[in-house]
Amino acid sequence: MQADRYKVHDIEAVIDRLQVVEDRKERLSTSLQTALKMGNGLVLVAKNDDHEAFPYSKHLMDAETGLSYEEPSPNAFSFNSPYGMCPTCTGLGYVNKVDMEKVIPDDTKSINEQGIVPFGEVRDNWMFQQIRAVAKKYKFSFTTPVKAISKEALDVLLHGSKEEQFKMQVNGNNYEFAFEGLVNLLDRWYNDTSSEKIRQWAEEFMTVDTCNTCQGARLKTESLHFKIAEKILQNFLIWIWGH
Ligand SMILES: [Zn+2]
Repeated sequence: MQADRYKVHDIEAVIDRLQVVEDRKERLSTSLQTALKMGNGLVLVAKNDDHEAFPYSKHLMDAETGLSYEEPSPNAFSFNSPYGMCPTCTGLGYVNKVDMEKVIPDDTKSINEQGIVPFGEVRDNWMFQQIRAVAKKYKFSFTTPVKAISKEALDVLLHGSKEEQFKMQVNGNNYEFAFEGLVNLLDRWYNDTSSEKIRQWAEEFMTVDTCNTCQGARLKTESLHFKIAEKILQNFLIWIWGH
């Protein structure tokens, strides 16, 4: 059979056609085993009349959606292990989130008066050149009290712009840029482990909150899908395995 080598193919092979009756049990069993072997644990059973196919799998996977699970191991139920921990909070169950009360403690102050605290004192640097371009586009100034800056503009300052919608000129060169947003900057600086000083500074504007990915359960999503009597298996199987 010729198959285009640059395309991904689903190749199905018919292993057997048979009527399911009592005295063909042996043949049915052998054919299924052959099919599972050829299909690496996946088999389709099709009806003879309308060819409607039903997928079955030997693996821990949903044959319809393709969502698969690794074989459960003790590590998968430990939030201390990279195999089990929630990747968002690294198994802590909580995350540090930017706290707006700490970022803008007094919204009657302007950017010049450090109304948006993490921006700090106005300087002539790259970041303030960007903030100036945002201010120009949204028609506010560095003396506008933060509470008088439009919701749309404040949202860009805090959460960033999706597209490169701002223009600025630096040393005669034109730049078009997307503003990263203060919250994203703080998150990035906080998670940047290369400088403990920067991390500690960013942490001043953060507050502890339950992890949204695992809802505080500390395990990765796949592990949380394993349940006994509707209970998740957080560090529980380790105990069984260990005793
Ligand atoms: Zn989590």
